[in-house]
Amino acid sequence: MRIFRGTPVSPGIAEGNVYLYQAFSCDVFESYVPEGREQEAFQAYQAAVHTADAELVAIIHSFAETDADKAKIFSAHREILDDEEIADEIRTAILDESKSADFAVDSVFTAFATLLSKAGDALIAARAADIRDVRNRVVRILHGEAEKNLSRLGAPAIVVAHDLLPSDTATLDKKNVLAIITEVGGTTSHSAILARSYGIPAILGVPEATNALPDGAYAAVDAITGEVYLEPDESSLQLLHQKRDAFAEDMQDASRYLAAEGRLADGTRIEIGLNIGSANDAGALRNCDFIGLFRTEFLYMQTDFLPDEEDQFEAYRRVLADAAGKPVTLRTLDIGGDKTLPGLSMPHEENPFLGNRALRLCLTHRDLFYTQLRAALRASVYGNLWLMFPMVGTLDDIRAAKEAVGEAQRQLESRGIPYDPKVRVGIMIEIPSIAIIADRAAQECDFASVGTNDLCQYLHAADRMNPQTEAYYQSFSPAMFRTLKLIFEAFAAAGKPVSVCGELAGNPQAAPALAGLGLRKFSMNASAVASVKRALSHFTLEQCRTIADQVCRQDTEADVKALLSNPFPI
Ligand code: PEP
Ligand code: MG
Repeated sequence: MRIFRGTPVSPGIAEGNVYLYQAFSCDVFESYVPEGREQEAFQAYQAAVHTADAELVAIIHSFAETDADKAKIFSAHREILDDEEIADEIRTAILDESKSADFAVDSVFTAFATLLSKAGDALIAARAADIRDVRNRVVRILHGEAEKNLSRLGAPAIVVAHDLLPSDTATLDKKNVLAIITEVGGTTSHSAILARSYGIPAILGVPEATNALPDGAYAAVDAITGEVYLEPDESSLQLLHQKRDAFAEDMQDASRYLAAEGRLADGTRIEIGLNIGSANDAGALRNCDFIGLFRTEFLYMQTDFLPDEEDQFEAYRRVLADAAGKPVTLRTLDIGGDKTLPGLSMPHEENPFLGNRALRLCLTHRDLFYTQLRAALRASVYGNLWLMFPMVGTLDDIRAAKEAVGEAQRQLESRGIPYDPKVRVGIMIEIPSIAIIADRAAQECDFASVGTNDLCQYLHAADRMNPQTEAYYQSFSPAMFRTLKLIFEAFAAAGKPVSVCGELAGNPQAAPALAGLGLRKFSMNASAVASVKRALSHFTLEQCRTIADQVCRQDTEADVKALLSNPFPI
């Protein structure tokens, strides 16, 4: 037995076989076959096409009932594989030009994809991404590598990877993921947030995990303490089973609060919001008062091309209609930082978290921005839409974003398309420069939501993705709570609603302090709702205020944590 350690970011206990996920790099070099061996190379190519086709048939079959749209994508891949023009060119490249099979496949597919991606049409460009996908599949088979695909694991497994891209997690085969272990990422990286929202135990920042945990090996995961056991012995397994049962019991206890209204012990009403990443997550809204964060970028990550206005309109309309009048806070595209888009090429930046991210990126890609705003505004007639902009740093940002909304409204008017003119427009408070002038910001928007995940990294200058800076990334620091106090007071004075939708709002230990600082709207992942409601129900408003007051007077994060772990003699 060997034990490895990392940061536990989504609690739970799991055991099973390791599924080592290493994305295939598909590098191909210029190479030729010796004279007389062309026929052999051609046969290898034909055999690879045959295997690729069998893989695609199996994928289509597995998606046929659950996800017709995905099945359609892979049917299109079969057509590409079967394309006569492509096949002819590859035959010529191998038989007449003596190119090796992988080099021939690479040159012909890449030439076709490049041609299409230059067409300047979103639909045709999407076709180019499909061609690249098929190219990767055939090259991988020619290189003798097995398929690794997180969207189809086939059997329950512990996923081990260097990192999971948000696009990987967005398409994850959730029902088969027992746990997630990665080498990078911290408590509020997007892999962590997704793992928590799906209730999948996860430990991030385990150094060398992909070397130390072999594919297929048996492992146990304690995502409460952050330990991974490779080939665990009997006594460790027994302890883990006891812990697993206690954890399940605690979850069971908290679940009694799930359907209740959020209230403090004295009856003070606390609104509980839900964070979602797709239209499919909104089911848990029955236990919540509003959707406090709809991370729309995940819609953009599920395919290799950018969703058009119709696709987005349909997704937003569905969420708004399902919410049946409850407010839906739709956050506009938050790309950059650790999130890139397969369908959007972005120049390399030295410090992407400090770079052209989120609202900044939208303001420099106006077409992208207007398309999303039009889709959201069109959907607004189906429910109660609150539009929210991420990464606002100045009042200039707020004004520019509002102007863009005005422009999108004019575009719809010129097309005679209705929208709800009363849509509320708000901001995320994630950058200290806007937190400090929250009083001024409150005058220029209808509401705010505090993104504590980013606020914490910018306040402490500690990368939320970097396990090396985890100790500096202090969500419970006195500085965080004092900053929150400033924001809550500014919005209360302006009579405008303010919520917190960062991970801190879903942390039961922080709940009484946040309520004591004045917060009445908490928004969180579905998996946190029950335990936060339970935590709030234990304290009166007066007790919360005392706790908040004490928290703000502590010296260090450790002091705050000690105080909150045993806050008050109740
Ligand atoms: C945040 O920063 O707290 C937030 C909610 O946004 P995200 O985690 O998507 O950056
Ligand atoms: Mg953020």
